[in-house]
Amino acid sequence: MYDVAEVRKDFPILGREVYGKPLVYLDNAATVQKPRQVVEAMSEEYYNVNANVHRGVHFLSQQATELHEAARETVRRFLNARSTAEIVFTRGTTESINLVAACFGEAFMREGDEVIVSEMEHHANIVSWQLLQARKGIRLRVIPVDDRGQLRMDEYERLFNERTRIVSVTHVSNVLGTVNPVRRIVDVAHAHGVPVLIDGAQSTPHFAVDVQSLGCDFFAFSGHKVYGPTGIGVLYGKEEWLDRLPPYMGGGEMIGHVSFEHTTFADLPLKFEAGTPDYVASTGLARALDYVSALGMDAIQAHERDLTRYALERLRQIPGMRILGEADDHDAVVSFLVGNIHHLDMGTLLDRLGIAVRTGHHCAEPLMQRFGVEGTVRASFALYNTHAEVDALAEGITRVAKMF
Ligand code: PLP
Repeated sequence: MYDVAEVRKDFPILGREVYGKPLVYLDNAATVQKPRQVVEAMSEEYYNVNANVHRGVHFLSQQATELHEAARETVRRFLNARSTAEIVFTRGTTESINLVAACFGEAFMREGDEVIVSEMEHHANIVSWQLLQARKGIRLRVIPVDDRGQLRMDEYERLFNERTRIVSVTHVSNVLGTVNPVRRIVDVAHAHGVPVLIDGAQSTPHFAVDVQSLGCDFFAFSGHKVYGPTGIGVLYGKEEWLDRLPPYMGGGEMIGHVSFEHTTFADLPLKFEAGTPDYVASTGLARALDYVSALGMDAIQAHERDLTRYALERLRQIPGMRILGEADDHDAVVSFLVGNIHHLDMGTLLDRLGIAVRTGHHCAEPLMQRFGVEGTVRASFALYNTHAEVDALAEGITRVAKMF
């Protein structure tokens, strides 16, 4: 049995009050709260181990290096990658996507070549490619989204041509909660000889991900969305692809030998990790992945799906409610508008009731345009949320709606 009351004890912040009301934290798609175990593992490393990694002969440096590389192994296991050579530490999903766009673009794309993205992408997976568009004259092709918030797979297949070089799509929409059929997306792309990057920012916190069974060539996620610290993320890449990409940044750690005439680069994955890595954050991330794995990703998913179903059921009963995103496969995000109440007003008034939601375009302006709205209110759930919190949300919305 999943015991949410027991789980909540690991998250001291959930006991806080705001404006004299118990905090109801429903902004988890932006970032989740951290369990005590993660913060303690990081304090412990700062207090007792801290030393720069990889270069030191001394005891602390070796211990810090062992922790950092053990964290890489934990990430490998979490994603079921074949080897730790395929796990690159970055600062987050955004940096991971930028790395692929820059390095893949440099090596394999020229003017007129195309990347396929979707209409439901986060700006991180749009603007990174637009930078390449400006530099190299590549083109973005866009998979449309249907009225229920699902990718038009028929249209997707029609976007391929001899200039298609890569597909880059999100696993789960941070606005609609739609879970995309990644395995099918990959199969179609591979049938055209095209690799696929998956933005896993919103999938890794919610269900088990196996990069080998998804078959994707690259996969990006952020530590802070999966109960780890800020400032660290991961790029998974198949070794055969990472080997063929040029380095992203130059500096220490990523080199073999340097002279003014000729520099050689380190082996994977260090080739992509210039400079001192956030070796304390990697420990925190590993502890977070251990934490969710111990609870069980399937148990977390079952709990959050149950909450999402319940939230959809309760919210649909509110007069004037419009929910954006009614996909069959719907994860722990609910976006909505009520009557003609501005999303910012709704968010601000819910905040006064202690309920933290997000409002605005959610870094997905093209998707807002698709649905003809300027923004939405978004409630997103985590492993520690409860049915009582969903009740508080529904009651809060009803109360705010009555004020208008
Ligand atoms: N992609 C998606 C789908 C997201 O939801 C987010 C964050 O909200 C990102 C990318 C960017 O993540 P980060 O800001 O951690 O790099």
